This record gives sequence, C-alpha cells and structure tokens, in this order.
Amino acid sequence: MKGAMRGSPAGPRLLLRRLREALAEPIGAQERLDKIVVLIAANMVAEVCSVYILRADDVLELFATEGLNRSAVHQTTLRVREGLVGLIAAEAVALNLSDARSHPAFAYRPETGEEEYNGFLGVPVLRAGRILGVLVVQNRARRTYSEEEVEALQTTAMVIAEMFAAGGFETIARPGAPLDLRRPMRLHGTVLSDGVGLGYVVLHEPRVVVTDLIGEDVDHELRRLATSLDKLRLSVDDMLARRDVTDGEHRDVLETYRMFARDRGWARKMEDAVRNGLTAEAAVERVQSDTRARMLRSTDPYLRERLHDLDDLANRLLRELIGRPHLDGADKLPKDAIVVARNMGAAELLDYDRDRLRGLVLEEGGPTSHVTIVARALGIPAVGQVAGAVSLVERGDAVIVDGEAGEVHFRPPADVEVAYGEKVRFRARRQAQYRRLRSKPSVTLDGHAVTLQLNAGLIVDMPHLDESAAAGVGLFRTELLFMVASQLPRINEQVAIYRRVLDAAGDRPVTFRSLDIGGDKILPYLRAVEEENPAMGWRAIRLGLDRPGLLRTQIRALLHAAAGRDLRLMFPMVATTAEFRAARSLVDRELRHLKRHAHRIPDHVRLGVMLEVPSLLFEIDELLGEVDFVSVGSNDLFQFMTATDRGNIRVADRYDPVSLPFLRALKRIVDRAALAHVPVSLCGEIAGRPLSAMALIALGYRTISMSPSAIGPVKEMLRALDVGRLRARLLPRLEPGRWNGDLRAFLAEYAAEHDIPV
Ligand code: PEP
Ligand code: MG
Repeated sequence: MKGAMRGSPAGPRLLLRRLREALAEPIGAQERLDKIVVLIAANMVAEVCSVYILRADDVLELFATEGLNRSAVHQTTLRVREGLVGLIAAEAVALNLSDARSHPAFAYRPETGEEEYNGFLGVPVLRAGRILGVLVVQNRARRTYSEEEVEALQTTAMVIAEMFAAGGFETIARPGAPLDLRRPMRLHGTVLSDGVGLGYVVLHEPRVVVTDLIGEDVDHELRRLATSLDKLRLSVDDMLARRDVTDGEHRDVLETYRMFARDRGWARKMEDAVRNGLTAEAAVERVQSDTRARMLRSTDPYLRERLHDLDDLANRLLRELIGRPHLDGADKLPKDAIVVARNMGAAELLDYDRDRLRGLVLEEGGPTSHVTIVARALGIPAVGQVAGAVSLVERGDAVIVDGEAGEVHFRPPADVEVAYGEKVRFRARRQAQYRRLRSKPSVTLDGHAVTLQLNAGLIVDMPHLDESAAAGVGLFRTELLFMVASQLPRINEQVAIYRRVLDAAGDRPVTFRSLDIGGDKILPYLRAVEEENPAMGWRAIRLGLDRPGLLRTQIRALLHAAAGRDLRLMFPMVATTAEFRAARSLVDRELRHLKRHAHRIPDHVRLGVMLEVPSLLFEIDELLGEVDFVSVGSNDLFQFMTATDRGNIRVADRYDPVSLPFLRALKRIVDRAALAHVPVSLCGEIAGRPLSAMALIALGYRTISMSPSAIGPVKEMLRALDVGRLRARLLPRLEPGRWNGDLRAFLAEYAAEHDIPV
C-alpha cells in the first residue's frame, strides 16, 4: 500500500496492464499501435497521444496517433533535431511544456491539425540507451505534467521499446524507409587478428532479457529490489575484500562499483519505477537505459568510462533478480557465432567452442592485449576498439568481422554480404593453395634450404606445426602461459605444460624463451611496479636475475619436462654478455641440483640469447663466443635502435625496418655468427612478411620464425626467389656511399620483375 500513497500510481499500473492485454492480442502491428495510443491518451487524460519511430535516414515518422489527424500517419515526418519531437530524439530527454507552441524548437505541421494544443509531454523511446522513437501526449489546456506523469509515460515508452525490438514494424513502414533499429552499420576499429568472419551476434555478457515488465504487486517487487540490492552490495564488498585484488585500476573500478551500489539516487529512481507498475527487473533496465542515453551524449571521457561501470553493475543487479548470478555467454553457442563484448580476458575466449566461433568484436582490446594474442593463436578474426558495439546489436543480428580492414558490419545489406562471401571464398582458395605447398620443400629457386619455424606461446598453437608443416617452434613465448593463467602456475603445472608442448612437437625442435614479463606484459597476480618507461624498465631477464625465484622455478620445470630430450632455452632482453653468463649459471646450478638428486636431465641443453638490445651488437663477438645460438628479436631491436615505442600507434610505423641502418645491423649479425659458426635465426614480425623475409634471406638468414598464417605466403615467395641474384643486387646498395634510394621500393620492384609473390 506504500505505493498508493504516492501520486496516482494506480493509473500507470492500470495502463500497463491494459498494454499487456493489447500486446497479447493476435492483431497486426498497425492495429496494435493504434490501440495503444488510444489507451495511453485515455489513461493520461490527454487529448492527443502519438508515436514516432526513428528511421534509418534519421527521420522520425509518425506511426500512430490518437487526437491528431489520422491522415497524417506515415505522412508527417521530422528530422532528428527538428521540432520538439526531433529535439527529444536528439537529446534523449523528456520535454515537459505548458505552452509548446511558444518553444523555439516548435515546428508546425499543418496536416496534423496540431494548432489547438498547448500542453506537451514527450519522452524518448529507448532501448539499451539507443533512441528508437518518441512518444508524445498533448492537451489543449496549458498544463505542466506532474513528475509522476512523466515517469508513467517513460515507463510506457519502455514497453513500446520492447515491442519495437520484438519486430514486426518493418511491415508497416513506408517502403524504402527502413527503421533505424534494423539499420545496417559499418563501424571502424583496429585490426586485432587477421581474417574475415561472417556470422551472428552472440553477446559475451548477454543482456538479461526482461520479459516480465509489468509488476502485479508493488510491495513484493520493492522487496525483491531491496533484497537484490543488498546482495549486490555484499558481493561488491566481497570482491573488494578478496586478497587477489591488488591496488591500481582493478581496485579503482571496484571502488566505483561500491559507490554506485550505495548511491541512494540510483535506488530511489528504481523504486519509483516499481511504484509506477514495473517489475523490479524492468525498473533496473528502465533506469539504466535512461542513464545510458544521458551519459552517451556526454563528451566527458571520464563520465563515459563510468557508464561502463554502471552498465556492469546494472547487469549484475539484473542477474541477482533473475536468480542466475553467473550467466555464461559460452553456453550453447550457435553455429557461426561472432562474439561481441566490451572486453574479455584471454581465458574467457578460450572457453568458447572454437568450432562455432567465427569472429570477435570488442569495444576495447588493443593489438597487444592478451585476448588478442589468443584470438590470433586460434585464428579467429578480431576487430577491437569498436565504440558502442555492444549497445548497437541484438543477439542473432547478422554481422561481418573484417580483420583485414579493421571494420565491422552490423546487419549488412545484401550486396555487402555477397561481396564478403566472395572475399571469404578467395581467402579459402589462397589457403588451399598454401596447403598444397605444405609437402613442397622450403628451398629457393637456386637451391638454398630455408628453415621456416613457428612462433607459439599456448598449447592451442601447437597443432599449427602439422597444419603449416613448419620445421619447429623458433620462439615459444612462455609468458603467454602465465598471462592467461589466473594465478602463478606451480612448478608441476609448468612441467606438465612444457611436456605437452614438447610432446606436440615430437622430433621437431622447440626453442623456449624464459619469461619475458614486465613492460606491457603484466601478470595479473603479480604486483606491477609503476615505471616511467616500462619497455626499458625492470623486465624480462633483468627481473629474472634480480628475483631469481621465478626464473629458477621455470628453468627447473623446463629441465624436468625435457628429461631425456633436447632443451633449447633463450633469454630475452639480454643487454650484456655478463647477463647471459649470469643466466647460464642459474641453469648450471639447477642442473647440478637435479643430478645430485638423481633426477633424469635433458640429453642436451642449448642456451641462447634473444638479440634485441642494440648494445649487444657492439659486443657480438664476445657473445658469440659463449652462446649456443642467437635469435634476433627484430621487434624490440628495431624499437630500441630507432627509439620508437612499438606499442604507440602514433610512432610505431614511423620508420621502416626495410631500410639502410636496420638491414646493415641485421647483416652484421648474420655475418659475425657465420664466422663464429653459431646458428642464428630471426623471430620478429618481419620474418612473416614476404617482402622483408625476402630481404632477410638475401642477407644470409636461413632460419626464420613467424606466426602460423605467414608460413604459406613466405614459402610461396622463397620458392620463387633466386637468392644469389638478389643478393648481388642488394648487398652493394648497403655499402657506404653507394646508393641512397628507397630499399623497400627496390625490393618490391625486384619482386615484380622476377615474378616473386610478396
Ligand atoms: C621481438 O622482440 O622481436 C620478439 C620476437 O619478441 P616479442 O615480440 O615477444 O618481444
Ligand atoms: Mg622482444
């Protein structure tokens, strides 16, 4: 009875009940809308009630009216921002006016016969913060509508939004004027993982679909809301109290959650919506939709960021109410699923059924984020930084992920779908072509064998060895295993994983790299130190030598796993020969320990260095005197030689590795290694691009390591390459004072002249 004491709550509740009856009737869309406007007008004691729906061309079309001239239906239109209705759509706020005609935005449409009306109340029809239309009531009298009436109309608008989303209105729309809700959209983002995927939207965090909008018993709904809010607050407190919540960003987010969860204003708005006749869950959604709409229009990045937090919180509350606190998007994945998410962890992506997953769209996600690395390993096309993606789609919408152009097409029109179908078939033909190359030797036209190896980092990468017929794993980035784990893997877990890697490789060599953490590679469970220049900070071997516990455990695990086989291990970010020596002595110490305890050890242990810090170039002969092999980490070597942060999109592409200084440096390394009879390979990104790989082979590199999808194109290139001829043309150009042209252009021309596919 609490509700009955406030305003006129019986009114909206009665209206909602009538609306529900109208929704259940087996009638057409137009008839239903016509009925609904009559019901609303009667209930609100208004002379006019009209519904405008937003079309894809940003025009609001009158779809139904009670009180205005019926002949204006489907004739009267207003652009977004035009007239009062356009203003409501543009600002996503209610407009409550006693003298509508004196408002500066008022736009008179003679066909409607609107001139007699003064009182005006219009509210946006919103779904997930997105405008679908506008609902208006009008009165002759100059009257201002009460707060309760505004609330009631907003609640009614929510029911109408659900009705629109359920579909059926396309059939009564004017031909050639599709509705905005189904509007095809092409959005730009950043390529995270190459490839093209066609399929249907699956929301990673499914919107809880509130089907039961209309509450029967206010007190019961208020109690449900209060109980769920209590549970939500407790769960946020719990999360904050957990020991694994380290300081920093994660804690900030949770603190924000706690603040929102305790916000009285938020609770009160939801309670009001319940008093107006909604179920508790419909009230949560209604308030959240409103907040979203307002915050989406804010230009303050801080506020927009908080919107995500509020969204998360509202979703949690909905799940509490519906009684399934952990809805799992990975459940029952449909065929051809494209997962759309704000963001997700690497492990969450691995939870999806790989056979049904065709693509990934993220609102966040950077090229070096962990989920990206996993998407690449799985070969799933992925596009990130697609603003607003989650709120622009419904489950089941058609979607195309273009991981070549960095674009996403939601609800693509038929011609776009056809074009992409062709693109997918073309890519498939290329892949089949590469597969046929699998059994062909990796030898150049003039008979030089080139060993092509894989870069890997997860167990899921290992089947690529067979698929690509690569000769082994040239770089196993062990830190990825640590990054996708939720806690530090214990030694026996590590042993098991390394053993699986070696088993999967069979008699093909695997070169493990010790943990390369620090910099941009943060382990969620290890406290990160704030650093001004993390890439040049306390990372990789530096961290390993200063805090040897972690590195020693890893070395011991690797020695165990490789018992009775060969172990190849290299150290990242080594800057001096002395550092390599220190790392080697850790290995020796572990070996002694194992021998002392009569453990079986590897048949051979070969230790190498990633050559990726420029200082080593000036100590290279000393280094080569001590190591069993070197592998050039060209990504970092180039970053440090040119002083350009590889993770900073503003500068990352500023200089070209296919250029005089860098090719000279690479030549020096391969020449000195040949003199010292030390095997050398290269495992940075340039090994996987046919044109730069061609240059590497001409410089003398005979082992290169790359991502699985690059093996085919690189092999196709090298089988068409006469190394001797290219070398004779390239090397003189690297001599001092001999040539000042563009080396990349020269190589491209050479390839074109000699029919080399690059
Ligand atoms: C490199 O630096 O070139 C390399 C292969 O290692 P990462 O990309 O993991 O730093
Ligand atoms: Mg590196």
